[in-house]
Amino acid sequence: MVLEDTTRGLQSNKVKRLPPSVIKDIELKNHARRLADLSPIRIKVRQCISCGALFESAGNRTCGCNTRSTGYIAGREII
Ligand SMILES: [Zn+2]
Repeated sequence: MVLEDTTRGLQSNKVKRLPPSVIKDIELKNHARRLADLSPIRIKVRQCISCGALFESAGNRTCGCNTRSTGYIAGREII
């Protein structure tokens, strides 16, 4: 939480952002999760365990650098 707040100001240049489509997807999932009485997925900035870059994560530990699939979408590992 604190991490998220402090990185909000720095953002863009250093932090890989989630694509809007993924954020939208998460919002939809969160809506469903709320109805199901589950805690919502939180997007937070974390450091990639593979390359060390900062990135927005919805639960995954890497920024996607270690996957060769071009169809990979960040945040896909959730649920
Ligand atoms: Zn990475």
